[in-house]
Amino acid sequence: MKIEAKELSKIYGEGEGRVTALDMASLEIMPGDFISVTGPSGSGKSTLLHLLSGLDRPTSGRLTYDDRDIYSLSDRELSAFRRRSIGFVFQQFNLLPVLTAKENILMPLLLDRRRPDLAELEKLSRLLGIHDRMDHLPCELSGGQQQRVAIARALAAGPQVVFADEPTRNLDSRSGGEVMELLEKVCTKMGRALVVITHDSRIASMARRRLSIVDGIVTEVACR
Ligand code: ADP
Repeated sequence: MKIEAKELSKIYGEGEGRVTALDMASLEIMPGDFISVTGPSGSGKSTLLHLLSGLDRPTSGRLTYDDRDIYSLSDRELSAFRRRSIGFVFQQFNLLPVLTAKENILMPLLLDRRRPDLAELEKLSRLLGIHDRMDHLPCELSGGQQQRVAIARALAAGPQVVFADEPTRNLDSRSGGEVMELLEKVCTKMGRALVVITHDSRIASMARRRLSIVDGIVTEVACR
């Protein structure tokens, strides 16, 4: 799936309090792309991620997923589109404490009344090294294992793209590095695009495409 953002802008407030959080951002995301987004606090990283993933709507600009204009969808259609096409990984793992790892992973699919593909789940949990932890509760898992469960949950619905907002922020540097390597590995293996916001220059340099954002202006800094 090709994602194309054209001149996306987001302006908050009016008059003196007016803030241009994102200023005419244009970019394309192709299947299998691994893109990092870095920039100082308040530069517009979360705004960019929220707009690219349809969590929020821009003040102006266009966003298409395979030529489909997603902001023309109603809120209900947009949330169904997000559930099926987009995976999210956040800095908080957001696992439900009373559910096992497996139940957490399958929850979004079940809420969407979709039948889980258990063979796919087995493959995913092996790739992420959590196959022997599937019947454990989150409190019985380390931070790194919990984030790997959250990654499996993001990928179980078969999204075309995964957006991750500071996915290693709550982890020590060793398990953070492991989690990022696994996230990249599963996305590459499954042909998913991956967009990661990070403060960590090591993680940013793992990405094949790097975006920098300053005062709402997005620039592509390197491509390898
Ligand atoms: P970052 O993720 O890089 O820290 P954000 O995208 O959260 O930056 O914010 C970019 C700018 O937009 C900041 O100046 C922030 O204060 C402002 N902003 C973000 N969300 C809102 C909002 N809901 N209302 C008003 N201003 C906002």
